[in-house]
Amino acid sequence: MSEMTDEQRRLARAQLPAGLRPETLAVRTALAPSQHGENSEALFLTSGFVQPDAQTSAERFASSEDFTYARTSNPTVRSFEARLAAMEGTEAAVATATGMSAILLLIMGLLKAGDHVVCSRSVFGSTLNLFAKEFGKFGVETSFVSQTDLAEWRAAIKPNTRLFFAETPTNPLTEICDIRALADLAHGAGALLVVDNSFCSPALQRPAELGADLVMHSGTKYLDGQGRVMAGALCGPERLIKDVFGPVIRTAGMTLAPFNAWVVLKGLETLALRMKAHSENALAVAQWLERQPAVARVFYPALASHPQHELAMRQQGGQGGAVVAFELRGDTPEAARAAAFHLIDSTRVLSVATNLGDTKSIITHPATTSHGRLSEAQRQAAGIGQGLIRLAVGLEHVDDISDDLLRGLSTLKHSK
Ligand SMILES: *Cc1c(COP(=O)(O)O)cnc(C)c1O
Repeated sequence: MSEMTDEQRRLARAQLPAGLRPETLAVRTALAPSQHGENSEALFLTSGFVQPDAQTSAERFASSEDFTYARTSNPTVRSFEARLAAMEGTEAAVATATGMSAILLLIMGLLKAGDHVVCSRSVFGSTLNLFAKEFGKFGVETSFVSQTDLAEWRAAIKPNTRLFFAETPTNPLTEICDIRALADLAHGAGALLVVDNSFCSPALQRPAELGADLVMHSGTKYLDGQGRVMAGALCGPERLIKDVFGPVIRTAGMTLAPFNAWVVLKGLETLALRMKAHSENALAVAQWLERQPAVARVFYPALASHPQHELAMRQQGGQGGAVVAFELRGDTPEAARAAAFHLIDSTRVLSVATNLGDTKSIITHPATTSHGRLSEAQRQAAGIGQGLIRLAVGLEHVDDISDDLLRGLSTLKHSK
């Protein structure tokens, strides 16, 4: 003991024992603290790193293990990557500026012109556009298939299929795909499965344990969880994260800013508690909504009425997550839209907005916002009616959320 220098003892103390549980990893996984012994991980707001001499500088630029320039890596960003990987149960993670840039990195790293992707047609709207329009321009072709019908995924496989892309549950109807079944199908075709885990977060669902090769995140949502910063990530095996995506992000620069990394790093410490509270609030609101006469249908994975309730509960650790959708009654699309607008405009507590992943509950009308650019026929096919409302249930008292909804619900034509 006495032969160790202070520096060696500091680094030895920072090595976590094996076998720690997810809650502990979420709080403790990070790079070693600095010589100052800070207990909360430091924010390194620096774009460059000073090297001790020219030879060391040359070695560090060649290996990119050590810090040189923040487009390649920064200690705060690396702490976030290590913590998220530990929580997802993957060997490594790479942080990106946004969720969308994580998908950009994914495709730039893995695919080339002539490759083919199979993707659920119910994924996040910008994801759909990115695959259909932007990657299409570069000769990467995507087939869009049913979220829930495995036969459609199987039928879409081609000799050049390299990637399956899935997101579960979907926005806003909370449709579930079977991650393990998709992983088996992808692997049988020699393709990789990537799962967008933004809605559940690793606190509820760990796709890698179910066979997914890569897990993608919009850290903007529940990883931050307080609506403050944009962030994204890919989690997976070291040979992909370090050897495939590392060189691309270093060159292309969709790097996560250190400040944003620090905010999300600290957000991860309370993720499991927040997701549990979000899920409890959302279930209570969903059950309450099912009892309201003006509500025709409620979509929420933890309700027994959800068509994939059992799969969802098995895959999501018995929790439903924060997002609930419900359909208001209306004799015509116009009447249904008027009811939805009335309900939204009657709220005084909920935020009228289109994002999610916040402590503040958010109410959205998908047909005129996230799905507003679809034709009425496309919207019908996607099940997005004019009477549909999406709630991203936050952490307010649950009775204040339902009271706020009741302001509009109780004054609707179908309320009795
Ligand atoms: C928000 C979101 C994205 C995009 O993430 P950004 O951080 O906004 O770029 C991707 N997938 C899902 C499921 C999302 O909710």
